[in-house]
Amino acid sequence: MRVVRADVMGMCFGVRDALKIINRVEEPQTVTIHGQLVHNEVVLDRLESKGFAMADESARADLPETPVVLITAHGISDKERARLTSAGKQLIDTTCPLVTRVHQAALKLRDEGYHVLVIGRRGHVEVQGIIEDLDSFYVVQNEDEVITFPSKRLGIVCQTTAASRNVARLRDVIAERNPDAEIKFVDTVCLPTKDHQRSVERLLGEVDAVVVVGGHNSNNTRELVTLCLERGIPAVHVQSADSLDPDWFAGYETVGLTAGTSTLDSTIDEVHQALLRLSVGVESRAH
Ligand code: SF4
Repeated sequence: MRVVRADVMGMCFGVRDALKIINRVEEPQTVTIHGQLVHNEVVLDRLESKGFAMADESARADLPETPVVLITAHGISDKERARLTSAGKQLIDTTCPLVTRVHQAALKLRDEGYHVLVIGRRGHVEVQGIIEDLDSFYVVQNEDEVITFPSKRLGIVCQTTAASRNVARLRDVIAERNPDAEIKFVDTVCLPTKDHQRSVERLLGEVDAVVVVGGHNSNNTRELVTLCLERGIPAVHVQSADSLDPDWFAGYETVGLTAGTSTLDSTIDEVHQALLRLSVGVESRAH
């Protein structure tokens, strides 16, 4: 079995920068990470062992007990920022600038009088942060949810890790079902997400199956899996080398390897090495 690595994969600059900031924190026990710093269990385990407190994403309404709160790369709303600072919390902000760009685009659309449509996953922390500052909004997850909106001015932004092909499809459906509306679209899918997806598309022509490495909660990782499956290529989503199931690879001659934007280089290399070891076993079983 041959392993072909995607030419673009793994950790994006937004996550790398967030990790650099957190690595400079001198007193981790005074800091609560407001949600999951990244959707990567390997990284989260390391942070917990350093002494950081972590608020579960679903429990962010509770005020952290520590004096310092670290905002993750996924960002938070201005409302949430105000709530934390007015409670006397000192903030360490690792919001990715490309998430900030989505907030700015959504607020500009709001100020221009648009009903804001956010293409993304309802309940995802990034999407929560975007909509919490809006009064007139709707989160669009799929075609079935697109309605004819009462507003005649529709402004569209996207979760940074949405798949561009889904965004294009949903944009068309929104236009079809709202023929009388003035629609303004701002493409806020981030460049690293687009580059990862394009790289997997290039890979698909030369592999029988794909291994996608990343946290189970990671939206962009799941989108990479979906892309492979939509193109008829089997894909398996693993968090680490330990999760590889040798039986899954039986019959595949060439396997592609890619990873989401919060996956450590070391985790990718461990999975790659495990695949190479596995390939020996797969080939010997085939003979
Ligand atoms: S995936 Fe995109 S938006 Fe999210 S942290 Fe990385 S670069 Fe920033």
